[in-house]
Amino acid sequence: MQLYMPTKVYSDKSCVKKHGKEMVSYGSKAMVVTGKHSSRMNGSLADVEEVLKNENVPYIVFDDVEENPSIETIMKAKAIGLAEKVDFVIGIGGGSPLDASKAIALMIANPDEKEEVFYQPKKLPNLPVICIPTTCGTGSEVTPYSILTIHKGRTKKSISHRIFPELALLDAEYLKSMPRTNLVNTVTDALGHLIESYLNVNSNEWNRIYVREGLRVFADFKERLQLDMLLEDDYEKMLRTSSWAGMAIAHTQTSLPHGLSYALTYEKNIPHGRAVGLFLAGYVNTYEDQKAVSEVMELLGFSDTEQFSNYMYDLLGSEQVEAELLEKTANDLMKDTGKLKNYPFNITKEELMQMYQK
Ligand code: NAP
Ligand code: ZN
Repeated sequence: MQLYMPTKVYSDKSCVKKHGKEMVSYGSKAMVVTGKHSSRMNGSLADVEEVLKNENVPYIVFDDVEENPSIETIMKAKAIGLAEKVDFVIGIGGGSPLDASKAIALMIANPDEKEEVFYQPKKLPNLPVICIPTTCGTGSEVTPYSILTIHKGRTKKSISHRIFPELALLDAEYLKSMPRTNLVNTVTDALGHLIESYLNVNSNEWNRIYVREGLRVFADFKERLQLDMLLEDDYEKMLRTSSWAGMAIAHTQTSLPHGLSYALTYEKNIPHGRAVGLFLAGYVNTYEDQKAVSEVMELLGFSDTEQFSNYMYDLLGSEQVEAELLEKTANDLMKDTGKLKNYPFNITKEELMQMYQK
């Protein structure tokens, strides 16, 4: 058994300011990578800028990262970062800016490489990356993955390069500005990571430590999440769960629900966590090792998969997806050998299509 988790994590109120000196110790000029609006609203960007100014570290802000970041956006940031001679990257936001910050750090460190390199198995250096999450779903602050939208292929895919952030700063205060649907979607993503990591060919007793704790904490807040009655403490619990889930998939990768979600996000603009969530009940019902599924259900505090399915339906509501799109999704996944091999059993295209929530 082995497990590799090299990211240093601080999880604390005001941790950006508390650990500001350490944050700026990774370079001499920073590129702050963020989305268009939210980091200005939730105070995270202001906290980072305050530290950079106080520590006299020059920086530029690239705030052009869209949801599900595209290769084009990364290449645009690369040109700016090279012209500005930045030597470390601070990503602030949801998974989109955090994933973008890793891909940008790779491209700036390799000025001669073109976009084709994202999907080539080449060992390349990257600038140091620091991640500050403001959603509670992707765990990108502790994973080595960066998922980019490939417009040419009308889908999304994790790049071939593994880039662990050097440092992750977790402050749940930043989550509090999230609208409910956004919060539900991102927590559902974390739940997907926990389940897909546990029920995964790469799973072992080490990643399952993160999963078990994550599922237990999820069990604690799940009813309040469903009833929209979250307590002050729950935000920190959700962020912690999300990071644990990230640590778990850093070891195992994700599985079929994630593989199935990408085309739905691309074609119908369904947010990532929601797109994953629509396949989760189907995944646990299809998974052949029902003993392992029962362990997951028990940790989550559900008596069986039917109760879990009802919970997911109540949380996410219904979403109409055309049969043709589900077929394309399943076809795409049948060709994605990297994702398919994480599923320990044989699976057919028809079974994949049936995983979608009715
Ligand atoms: P996101 O795409 O980063 O952000 C979704 C929306 O939430 C944006 O409109 C964003 O606004 C807003 N937002 C972010 N933080 C907010 C806050 N605190 N308050 C209010 N609004 C806020 O969402 P995400 O679900 O976190 O990330 C999804 C991406 O991560 C996908 O591309 C997915 O493939 C990827 N992902 C990566 C991993 C990994 O291991 N690396 C794992 C799973 C998923 P702004 O645009 O204005 O910031
Ligand atoms: Zn995910």
